Amino acid sequence: MRIVDVKEQAVPIKSDISNAFIDFSKMTASVVAVVTDVTKNGKPVIGYGFNSNGRYAPSGLLRERFIPRLLEASPEDTVADDGTNLDPHKIWNILMTGEKPGGHGERSVAVGTLDMAIWDAVAKIEEKPLYQLLAERYRDGEVDEKVFVYAAGGYYKPGKDLSALQDEMKHYLDLGYSVVKMKIGGVPLEEDLKRIEAVLDVVPSGRSLAVDVNGRFDLDTAIKYAKALEPYDLFWYEEVGDPLDYELQAVLGRYYEPPMATGENLFSMQDARNLIRYGGMRPDRDYLQFDCALSYGLVEYMRILDMLKTHGWSPRRCIPHGGHQMSLNIAAGLGLGGNESYPGVFEPFGGFADGHPVENGYVTLPDVPGIGFEAKSNLYELLKQIGGE
Ligand SMILES: [Mg+2]
Repeated sequence: MRIVDVKEQAVPIKSDISNAFIDFSKMTASVVAVVTDVTKNGKPVIGYGFNSNGRYAPSGLLRERFIPRLLEASPEDTVADDGTNLDPHKIWNILMTGEKPGGHGERSVAVGTLDMAIWDAVAKIEEKPLYQLLAERYRDGEVDEKVFVYAAGGYYKPGKDLSALQDEMKHYLDLGYSVVKMKIGGVPLEEDLKRIEAVLDVVPSGRSLAVDVNGRFDLDTAIKYAKALEPYDLFWYEEVGDPLDYELQAVLGRYYEPPMATGENLFSMQDARNLIRYGGMRPDRDYLQFDCALSYGLVEYMRILDMLKTHGWSPRRCIPHGGHQMSLNIAAGLGLGGNESYPGVFEPFGGFADGHPVENGYVTLPDVPGIGFEAKSNLYELLKQIGGE
C-alpha cells in the first residue's frame, strides 16, 4: 500500500472574539487530506487532519517541505513491516528528515496536522475508531467510555456586559457542562474580579470555573491576581505568564495553592520536559494542556506521556487544549483527564460528533472508523470537498 496524494487547503476559522493577547478575526487553519490506495466500501481511504486554533495555517511549510517529503518517501519507509497499514512513527521520521533539533517554531504545527491525517487513515484502514486502536496498541485494550470536557468561553467581545457573560455561562451549564472557563487579564484586576464574581453567581461553586490569562502577566501581576483569586478556590488558573517562562510558573506556585494549568503553547517533548523540570508544576493537582495538533502530533505526544511517567505524572493530569476530536480520541484511548471544548466557537473544527451531547460534564465518542470526522456533519462537509470525495 502507499500514499497516492496529499492535498492542503487553508480555511478561515475567524471569530469576533479575543483573549488577553490576540483577537481571532484573522485566524486560519490548514486542512490536509492524505489519500491512500487502500479501498474500503468501494472508496479510497482518505485521512484528514487540521491544525488546532490559535496558530495560523502552516500552508507554506506543508507545501514546500513536509508534503513533498511524504510523497517522495518510498513505501517501505512509510508502511508498517507487515505491509498492511501506514506506520505513523516511521512517517514522523520521514517528515523530520533534514530538520535540526530545537527552536521548533511552527513546523510542529505542520507536522501535527499531517500526523492527525495519518492516524485517521491508519484507524480507517483497520476499520476501528482511533480511540479503540490506541487502547489496543498502547493500553491493553482499555477504553474510557466517556471523557470529561469543559466549556471554554468567556471571551472579551465589544459590548459584552456582565449579564451577557452570565447568560453565556448559564447556556454552557444547560448544554450539560459542569465546568466552564473564562478569559481574564484583558482588563484591570478590579474589573476582572467583577466578571469572575458575576460568573460565580450562576455556577455551582469556584470548582466549576477556570480562568485563563493566555500568557499575559509578568510575575508581579501574576502574584497580585493569585492573591485575589485564591479565596475563590477555582478549577484552575491557566497560562498565567509567558509559556516559556518556567521561573515565573515555579515562583507563582509558591503563592497559589489551588490548581494551575499550562502547556498549550509548548510544542515539543523537550519544551514540555523543561516545564516539568523547572516550572514547579505539582503532579498532585495541576493540569497539563499540550495539544498534539500544534506540537508534532500524536507520535510526539506519546513521547510526552512517557516523559511524564518517568517524572511521576499520571496521564490523568493531561487535559489538552484545542477542543478537537483528535485529542478526544487520545483522551478516551490513552486515559487522559479530559479535553477542552468550545461550544459554538471555532466551528466546524471545534466540537464533537453529532448526536453525542455533553451530559454531566462528560461526552461519549461515536463508533465509526478513524477519528470520527464523518460523524460530525458540518466538519465532514468541508473535509470531503478538500479530499475530493
Ligand atoms: Mg488557554
